[in-house]
Amino acid sequence: MVQRGNLFILSAPSGAGKSTVIRELLGQEMVPAETLQFSISHTTRQPRRGETDGRDYHFVEKAAFLEMTGRGEFLEWAEVHGNLYGTSQGAVEPFLAQGIDMLLEIDVQGAEQVMSRVEDAFGVFLVPPSYAELKRRLIGRGLDDAAVIARRLAVSAWETKRYVNYDYVIINRDAALAARALAAIILEKRFQRKRCVDEVTAILAEFPQEIPLDDP
Ligand code: ADP
Ligand code: 5GP
Repeated sequence: MVQRGNLFILSAPSGAGKSTVIRELLGQEMVPAETLQFSISHTTRQPRRGETDGRDYHFVEKAAFLEMTGRGEFLEWAEVHGNLYGTSQGAVEPFLAQGIDMLLEIDVQGAEQVMSRVEDAFGVFLVPPSYAELKRRLIGRGLDDAAVIARRLAVSAWETKRYVNYDYVIINRDAALAARALAAIILEKRFQRKRCVDEVTAILAEFPQEIPLDDP
């Protein structure tokens, strides 16, 4: 039987650097790309410049999103900054079943739903170095208009206080270092003894059980 993959959640206030840290992680070799999948969420938000449907998000109308919630298709969903976002079961389950780890970049409300429903779900919270730096990053990113930025900053303290519900915290001062910390967390979970029992049992089965003392 294949050992199920682990499910990791990465949350942070908008602009703290989730996407940047994930990009850094993909550029490093600590976690081979084929061993980690990023779930693609559904959202009712409008695509930003440079975003592609089916790659960054599945962009859907509100009615279609609500139909999916009615059919119980989401592992979690929430209203975030005035739009609906959700992780479908189909975006996650096939990979976990194949033993591939999943990383969900979702908000604090969705994270709490997943952590309470899924065994072997681990939450990582990314904290910006300061409020001033968070604001600088959100403005500097240049993708959202002033009203959207204000709305995101307004909930940033409320979101960041929820770090207490997570298993791990990384302060994103340097993105490359933050990515190494995230990789270390993902790797550490792969080497838990309980996850290795089947493999070690198979290796041990090939050992002769009684080795004569005079057999070198
Ligand atoms: P999020 O995905 O959390 O909304 P992004 O990854 O889009 O945030 O980052 C927001 C902005 O901050 C981007 O312009 C990015 O280049 C910048 N940024 C992210 N991490 C760092 C860092 N450690 N140091 C300096 N700038 C950063
Ligand atoms: P953005 O619009 O900047 O891409 O994302 C805004 C917020 O929505 C971020 O906090 C992001 O983590 C969160 N988010 C993205 N996808 C999902 C999802 O599937 N579920 C939930 N609950 N939040 C999500």
